[in-house]
Amino acid sequence: MTDVLAIAEHRRGSLRDVSFELVTAGRELADARGGDLHLAVVGGDVDAFAEELNVEGVDTIYTVDEGEEFNHDVYVQVAQQLIEEVEPSTLLLPNSVNGLDYAPAVAERLGVPIVTDAIGVAGDDPLEVTREMYGSKVETTIEVDAPELVVTIRSTEWDGAEGEGSADVQSFEADVDESQVRSTVTGFEEAGGGDVDIADADVLVSVGRGIDEEENIVLVEKLAEALDATLSSSRPIVDNGWLPKNRQVGQSGKVVTPKVYIAIGISGAVQHVAGMKGSETIVAINTDPNAPINDLADYAIHDDLFDVVPALIEEFGGE
Ligand code: FAD
Repeated sequence: MTDVLAIAEHRRGSLRDVSFELVTAGRELADARGGDLHLAVVGGDVDAFAEELNVEGVDTIYTVDEGEEFNHDVYVQVAQQLIEEVEPSTLLLPNSVNGLDYAPAVAERLGVPIVTDAIGVAGDDPLEVTREMYGSKVETTIEVDAPELVVTIRSTEWDGAEGEGSADVQSFEADVDESQVRSTVTGFEEAGGGDVDIADADVLVSVGRGIDEEENIVLVEKLAEALDATLSSSRPIVDNGWLPKNRQVGQSGKVVTPKVYIAIGISGAVQHVAGMKGSETIVAINTDPNAPINDLADYAIHDDLFDVVPALIEEFGGE
């Protein structure tokens, strides 16, 4: 058992970027173990998804035409049946809301170990999985001495695979026991904050506790507007109810990798950094030259945000 099986993720008709990151991580692992990488996609419109997923590094793509959107009970059954078919050493899933919803159930049914939120996978036998612990303060490598296991990977830790692939695409007929499907998706309701997905933004203007009061948020909103950027924040801003939860960057918020991340009045606590350290260019505006965010910043402005932000708005033609 040297093969790797990954299951792609999609939502409302679009593949999520992490599906392609799974291919990169899965390929690394399959090469280390001397096996093949199998990728499965479950849901509606699977043929179109398979075409998109046929990138370099994938050996086989299984299309499983079952339902439209993610469903815990369906995915658990399909994953189990795919594992019986493929007999992989490792099942790789995203460490996403959906991935974490069914990965433990699959591991429990198979009676195999699970390691979640991996940021690195290496080695042949035993497999070495790297993950963070204690609120991202410590990076640890876990040796898993088991022939089979389930691993969920953190999004944005691997580059998404690309390039034309030559995978063998096969339709997989799953035998889903409908009596075991206890939930159905009846519709979608967007969380507060509208359709904004900060993970998709090229430029993020991110605000932290340095903004001091809710009424001052308008200042950073104006900067975001002038830069055609999206507004995000650290956790205290969300905890205070000044911005909706879907704007929060960090360990308990979203992981973002924009081209430019402007941290305004944000200290750079590890839990915040865990969500934005992959940004291409980081700009920090902070009065404290010793704030940890400065260690990460490409450009650090040690000054009062209430002076700097209006100057930037003016510079970029805002009001
Ligand atoms: P502070 O740490 O208070 O920093 C404010 C900064 O503003 C300071 O550096 C200060 O120098 C600067 N400042 C003040 N006034 C001005 C001014 N006028 N001009 C310029 N600079 C100024 N946090 C997250 O962000 N995201 C998460 O997902 C997250 N998850 C967490 C999960 C757990 C389990 C725990 C325990 C914590 C989590 N946190 C998270 C909280 C995290 O530990 C920090 O408390 C938080 O990130 C701090 O936010 P901040 O930088 O906005 O505030």
